[in-house]
Amino acid sequence: MYFYDSYSFLILIGLMLLASVASMNVRSTFNKYHKIRNSRGMTGAQAAEYMLRQNGIYDVSIERIGGNLTDHYDPRSKTIRLSDPVYSNASIASVSVACHETGHAIQHATGYAPLSIRTALLPAAQLGSQALWPLFFAGILFSIPVLINIGILFFSFSVLFQLFTLPVEFNASSRALKMMDQYGILSMDENDSARKVLTAAAMTYVAAAAMSLGQLVRMLLLSRRR
Ligand SMILES: [Zn+2]
Repeated sequence: MYFYDSYSFLILIGLMLLASVASMNVRSTFNKYHKIRNSRGMTGAQAAEYMLRQNGIYDVSIERIGGNLTDHYDPRSKTIRLSDPVYSNASIASVSVACHETGHAIQHATGYAPLSIRTALLPAAQLGSQALWPLFFAGILFSIPVLINIGILFFSFSVLFQLFTLPVEFNASSRALKMMDQYGILSMDENDSARKVLTAAAMTYVAAAAMSLGQLVRMLLLSRRR
């Protein structure tokens, strides 16, 4: 009964549902605008390349990776990795995602603070999400409350990481939308569609952050009750 006895459990289930709705929504929105070719006929890779050059960035490479919606920017190797559909197709959705990832590369090149903080938090966040449950259960099993507290402390790094992800993601999208318009990569109508794709993507990060925060609050409540 220990884990099923409170409203916080129901809230957590609600947040999990919200996260899966957000992830279904990003897929369907991407698919919808992936069927529409952009008027300039630019592929994601070309748009990313163009946006980098316009910003005077020449030390970031663009690579193709497998999977769907696996697109990301890797600050360690200064690489924009674009999934197959984004890399090689000239749709509104592919250009939107490619320019969003380029937005991260520009954040990196210009020393955008939330990105630096987020990158610095990554090792602690990874450790935190792995250490939470073993420490938490060991703490309960052997009645050593300090283990529970250490688990929660570690986990809070991973929550902090997710919270710093939010400004980073919103900022990359707003940079992308502004520049796609400014450089004429997309027309004004196409830019409205791009906003829908990028907003749907941002919502998955909001849902993930809310879920982590909910989990942290629940951990704190459970540990205090003991
Ligand atoms: Zn992003």
